[in-house]
Amino acid sequence: MNVEPAVYRIVTGEYQVNTYILSCPETGEGAIIDPGGDGNKILALLKEKRIRARYILNTHGHADHIIANRELKKALDLQICMHEEDAAFFSRPDILKTEEKELGLSTPGKADIKLKDGDTITVGKLTIRVIHTPGHSPGSVCYLAGGSLFTGDTLFVGDVGRSDLSGGSFATLLNSIKEKIIVLPLDTKILPGHDYGETPDSTLAWEMEENPYITDFILAE
Ligand SMILES: [Zn+2]
Ligand SMILES: [Zn+2]
Repeated sequence: MNVEPAVYRIVTGEYQVNTYILSCPETGEGAIIDPGGDGNKILALLKEKRIRARYILNTHGHADHIIANRELKKALDLQICMHEEDAAFFSRPDILKTEEKELGLSTPGKADIKLKDGDTITVGKLTIRVIHTPGHSPGSVCYLAGGSLFTGDTLFVGDVGRSDLSGGSFATLLNSIKEKIIVLPLDTKILPGHDYGETPDSTLAWEMEENPYITDFILAE
């Protein structure tokens, strides 16, 4: 059985990451997607909405999306989830050094639970599916909860994530979108990792019409 999550978005940290809190409306259990800083703001929202967070779900291992992991883990009894490839990649000292140069920020991608494509995470009565979408980073994932897809830096409203950072690949990114995202129902809500578009979120139907990476590179093939 699956239920639709309650979803709250706050923008965190100096890299303006979309942090999402999703919760099971029946049990009040929840998860935090990509805590990009401002741990206090995240904790205040959890308290206000009476949500008991069980997991941190990282869409990928870039420092701007995981910077508040440790702070929140200290404050709450929760487990950090990340795809196994990013957990390994962003633990390498050479990669962290490169990341520091590329992003001006780095922190090890430590995870309590290392995810694989197709894994599911249960939060109350919610089932969250892990969809491995490499390209922005080797272990980038999207999380599907009910009809909402949390796309991290893989897919933005009208845009896609960078593929020029270390571990990135444009061809792999497009292939992930083609094989794993555009096959989902058209009314799937797209909730990206940054608010870079005309609107903070969209639908897959809108992206199929308006996102030039989908219309010109994937559908025009
Ligand atoms: Zn990123
Ligand atoms: Zn980002």
